[in-house]
Amino acid sequence: MATHAVRVKNLTRQFQQRKVLDDLDLTIAPGEFVALLGRSGSGKSTLLKAIAGLDHDVTGEGTLEVPHEVAVAFQDSRLLPWLRVLDNVELGVKPGRGKAALDEVGLKGRERAWPAELSGGEQQRVALARCLVREPRLLLADEPFGALDALTRIKMHALLRELCAKHRPAVLLVTHDVDEAVELADRVLVLQEGRIGLDLPAHDADRTHLLSAL
Ligand code: ADP
Ligand code: MG
Repeated sequence: MATHAVRVKNLTRQFQQRKVLDDLDLTIAPGEFVALLGRSGSGKSTLLKAIAGLDHDVTGEGTLEVPHEVAVAFQDSRLLPWLRVLDNVELGVKPGRGKAALDEVGLKGRERAWPAELSGGEQQRVALARCLVREPRLLLADEPFGALDALTRIKMHALLRELCAKHRPAVLLVTHDVDEAVELADRVLVLQEGRIGLDLPAHDADRTHLLSAL
């Protein structure tokens, strides 16, 4: 068993002359739930893509997970509209586990629906099911609830918490919502000037302090 779910050192990414990530170090333990805050444009999505192995222009040292152990969820569910829900979930994996994953996210019986027939919250549930069937050791989520209404968001928080308690992946959740970060995570990070400027256990994190760091 690897001792880290994420371990990167001196991660640097620049666009033109500007260093968006600047010698960033980050370690996440197996099963740890980490929330990443930072103002808009601070480089949160850039960091997530780098860790996911989706960015080939990033430099640094790291022992990143091999891709099949990582699952990524985005703000928009990125379901393929021409595939039914079950086929979206099982895309690229051995068929057979999708139905159970859909049951787990509360979508029993919706296997044959088209993505367009689902609400935004339901589409995010499908996206979570698609992550689950991959049995990831690391779940990367980029503002997955950002486009949802407040009530749906609360339900999704409960679902994510339940799924994580059961499957214990390490999680890196990007959010701009301080309350969401403190409520869901074990540890809260703030990205500032290309580095992890603040790194606190969630139970110590003071909302005012976090807001002032953004
Ligand atoms: P965040 O997710 O924190 O809002 P991003 O990681 O998306 O921020 O972007 C950080 C900065 O990097 C922004 O200034 C953005 O314009 C820039 N950036 C991101 N991707 C690209 C790209 N492909 N080309 C040029 N600039 C980019
Ligand atoms: Mg972003």
